[in-house]
Order: sequence, then structure tokens, then C-alpha cells
Amino acid sequence: MARSWAELSVRVSNRHIEAVSNFLVEAGSPGIEVREGSANSEIVGYFAGMPPITALRRLLADLGARLDGIATRRVDEEAWGETWKRHCRPQTIGKRLYVCPSWEVERAPSGRIEIVIDPGMAFGTGDHPTTRACLLLAERAAARAPLRRVLDCGTGSGILAIGAARLGAREVWAVDPDPVARAAATENGEINGIGGRLRVVPSLDPVSGPFDLILANLFADLLAELAPRLRTLLARTGVMVCAGFVSADADRVEQQFAREGLHATQTITEGDWVTLELRRP
Ligand code: SAH
Repeated sequence: MARSWAELSVRVSNRHIEAVSNFLVEAGSPGIEVREGSANSEIVGYFAGMPPITALRRLLADLGARLDGIATRRVDEEAWGETWKRHCRPQTIGKRLYVCPSWEVERAPSGRIEIVIDPGMAFGTGDHPTTRACLLLAERAAARAPLRRVLDCGTGSGILAIGAARLGAREVWAVDPDPVARAAATENGEINGIGGRLRVVPSLDPVSGPFDLILANLFADLLAELAPRLRTLLARTGVMVCAGFVSADADRVEQQFAREGLHATQTITEGDWVTLELRRP
């Protein structure tokens, strides 16, 4: 039976697009749609459970925005998937990567490594600044030293795990508690011909280090909670990439990892999203 999702749409003045978009993603929407108008825009998010209306009203009140532009309706999974498809576009990332949705017919520009993704209902299309930043930092890590073992914690569609394998990693572990994400990651691994190098698991329990590269595109609180465990999984000279938080939370995440002996060596900021590369001194 098709799952049904709650669609939450909110009309706001254009100056609040970023704050409301960030809120919807942090509240769990796997993606958002912005229907931009000249002065006001409609921002739409999707939620598997109850949409976060109370918290959204609080945010709008804090922003001094109108509270009467909120609407919800239920949509079935298939309709949602089709809407979402319109928003996935092929992208070049860094010097070597090209991410394209599975229904795209254009092939990668020559010299670029293709990552083909059918996100289905899972997060991770390459559209989000954090996904792009993680891929860019993975590409840079692979340029410095060969990647042997890579961990992708919070794999979603599998996009980062597949990127790592396509950049040469021999063994990639992909963790996600969401069965929909695990199914998508497994399928995308097959589509990209790297299934044999990919292990998709529901938690970090069966995972053991050391990893040359750990990618964790999650959210601030979870990163802080997982920092000690991720540190033990990282090779002595390994690279840790963490993302999924906004600038207001960046210091907190950085300090948490610094307590684990991992220090920021690169920071990528796009919009309000911050992605950190961390290493041991
Ligand atoms: N790696 C992808 C998707 C990131 S979305 C990208 O960069 O685009 C974050 C993913 O983390 C979601 O699929 C979510 O199900 C997963 N997640 C949530 N809690 C988690 C946990 N405790 N451990 C690992 N993954 C988790």
C-alpha cells in the first residue's frame, strides 16, 4: 500500500524563504519546494508523521511573519515522488563528479565520474548544499590519499556512499535506520555497479573501523551525540566530514568534535549551511 505523507505549505514574504526552508528540512522534510513569487513565496515540505505546525507558527511569530499562510493536505507517496522528480537536476560537483537522476538521458561531461541517483522517497539528490559540500570534500580527500574504507553515516539515497566508491573506495559502509533509505541506497548501489563494495546497515552497531573517510550529513544534536563513536571509527590519518547544521550551530558541533581530538581543517558554507572537514592534528 502506498504510504501517505503530509504536505505542509506556507506562504511567506521572500525575505523569510531561507529561515522557513531551513526549518522545514531540520524538522524532517526530505526536501522542500519553493514556489517563488515577486514578493511572497510558497514553501512546501513533506512529513511522514505529524507536520510540525506548532513549531512553524512559533518560528513565524519570531520572524514577525503572518501566521495565516499555513496549509496542510495528505498526498500519497507516488504523487509526491513525481512532484519531487521535477526538482532533481543533473549537477557537476568539484572537479570530477557529476550527479544525475536516473531518469536523465544526458550522460556525464567527459572526464567526470557519474553518480546516478533515483532518490525515491529517501533524502539525497545532490540538490542540497550539504550533500554537494560532502561530495566535494570526499573528492578532495580522495585526491590527497587513496580511499580504502569509507563510512557514510545517514546515507539516505546512498549518494555519498556511491560517490566514495566511484572515487575509488574499496569498501563502503552505509548506515541508515530508515528502511526506505536502505532500500534506495541498495538499489542505487546496484544502478551504479558498486553494489559489491557497499554494505548497507541500520545502525553503527555492526560497523568497525578504521575508516579513511567518514561522511556524516545528519543534524547538529545527532552529530554531537555520535562524535565519540565516530572518532573511534576514524583511522589515525582519516578525514571526518560532518554536515547538516546551520551556522548558528557550527561552533557547538566543532567544539564537540574538538573534545574528541578532531579539529576543523576546511569549512564550506553555502546559504546558511555549514560543512566541516575535521582531522587529528
Ligand atoms: N547522506 C545523504 C542523506 C542525508 S539525510 C546526503 O548527504 O544527501 C540524513 C539521513 O540520516 C536520513 O536518511 C536519516 O534517515 C538518517 N538518520 C537519521 N538518524 C540517524 C542515525 N541515528 N544514524 C544514522 N543515520 C540516521
